[in-house]
Amino acid sequence: MSRAALMLAFSGHYLRWLTGRSALPVEAPYRSDEDHRSAIEALQQRLRTGRPPFSSRKLTAGHQARSVDGSDRDSILDLRPLSGILDFDADEATITVEPQVTVRQLVRATIADGWAPAVLPEFPEITVGGAIQGLAAESTCHRHGLFHESVTTMEVLLGDGTHLRVTPDHHPELWRMIPGSYGTVAAITAATLRLIPAQPWVELHHRRLSVGAFIDGAFDHDVDAVDAIAVDADHAVVTTARWIPAPPAGQPRRRFRRFAPYYADHVVAAASEDASEIMSFEDYAFRFDRGAFWIAPTKLGRGLLSRALLADFATAANLYRLRRSRQRLRPGPSRRVVQDCMLPHDRVGSVLRWVRTHLEGPIWLLPILSRTENPFGLQPGRWINLGIYLRHPGSHDGVTAFREELERRVVAAGGRKTLHAEVVDPAAYLEQTVDMAEYRQLRHRFAADDAFPDLVAKLNGTH
Ligand SMILES: Cc1cc2nc3c(=O)[nH]c(=O)nc-3n(C[C@H](O)[C@H](O)[C@H](O)COP(=O)(O)OP(=O)(O)OC[C@H]3O[C@@H](n4cnc5c(N)ncnc54)[C@H](O)[C@@H]3O)c2cc1C
Repeated sequence: MSRAALMLAFSGHYLRWLTGRSALPVEAPYRSDEDHRSAIEALQQRLRTGRPPFSSRKLTAGHQARSVDGSDRDSILDLRPLSGILDFDADEATITVEPQVTVRQLVRATIADGWAPAVLPEFPEITVGGAIQGLAAESTCHRHGLFHESVTTMEVLLGDGTHLRVTPDHHPELWRMIPGSYGTVAAITAATLRLIPAQPWVELHHRRLSVGAFIDGAFDHDVDAVDAIAVDADHAVVTTARWIPAPPAGQPRRRFRRFAPYYADHVVAAASEDASEIMSFEDYAFRFDRGAFWIAPTKLGRGLLSRALLADFATAANLYRLRRSRQRLRPGPSRRVVQDCMLPHDRVGSVLRWVRTHLEGPIWLLPILSRTENPFGLQPGRWINLGIYLRHPGSHDGVTAFREELERRVVAAGGRKTLHAEVVDPAAYLEQTVDMAEYRQLRHRFAADDAFPDLVAKLNGTH
């Protein structure tokens, strides 16, 4: 594919998304039980009369590093109508939503009343359904575990159209295996989430530490949120955050406007010495969205002019649309490594040191205290996620060899990759890390194998 054709495709995307910012409402509507039931009946009808295997269609672009082939019309399970709030119960500190509600809409619905979801994945267009299915995480995970660990009830649709309420006690085998299964066991039609007390403002403190010191003390911070960016082999900028009711007098408030540096650049630049700043809760929650961590800055230029021209275009959702278009135009492995690898706390150092022998640049470090067992993800315990979103300097063969070796080392260290990323050999990876016999049995028992693609097909990008 020539550079000119790529540029043409890019400019089309640019215009469409630059002008289409408001396509997705920032606030989700409340939905009546009756409307919810009729949306489910339409899906049941599709499952009965459509052509399996079914692929879901969403309002959002999704956040998958790999390309996904389209499905024909009769095979689409249209989840788009499931995009409303069903109930917000401030007394119980829970919110029940349909799966297309985005995490930004969750914040908008709850923060004014002093609540927020316990875990808020950092891209505003991530949906509740996708966050459960994709084992999403963020800087409150040092207290609250992964996103799905704050779900208290799910409503799901099986492949034969059966609609079930699923809790730890009611269909426990489904409860255990749906998170992380990427929609290959059942479609989620609603979820109730536990909320935590929150405030409209956040006070951040950035501090430079050695990578080893951060890892050793990653779970010792008595704060609302913590994460770090490893800036080189030896140093990390550690950011701790507390929710506060109002900005203290004289403290500057940071806003990420058109000309402002991307958050990650700002943190790395600011942290040659300790620094504090204030942000609104929403700016903090989605601080990595503009620039999608550091993916946009290296790809599209990090200068003032580029930032101004890209305006709000360089969001994670747009960059992922662009990445997938690029993959369709020019199939084959990309030289950008996009991997989230969750490693046991005491094994993360050795994997990180090995990664550093191949890649320079920022790496995201995220502590996760998991309390539940998940077949595709974590066991209870202390984990650190390595967010590796960097361009590999070698040839295509070199990148593939790097990915293979990374996968091997992660598995050998008892870790898990999150499956939004590229997986070199999905079947082999899953056989090594998941009890696939149990997974297949469960899919068979709950009518998934005739209706939904399996995880290998999903990871191969065919669904
Ligand atoms: C560069 C990069 C960095 C990332 N970093 C982080 C991170 O730091 N923290 C984090 O939390 N996550 C991160 N993610 C991953 C992200 O959270 C997951 O990919 C998540 O699944 C995205 O949610 P989504 O709504 O966009 O889901 P989608 O991409 O739309 O869907 C994910 C999967 O779930 C299935 N699905 C979606 N909704 C339903 C439903 N209602 N019922 C059944 N199946 C459904 C889809 O078919 C698909 O297979 C990152 C992703 C990328 C690409």
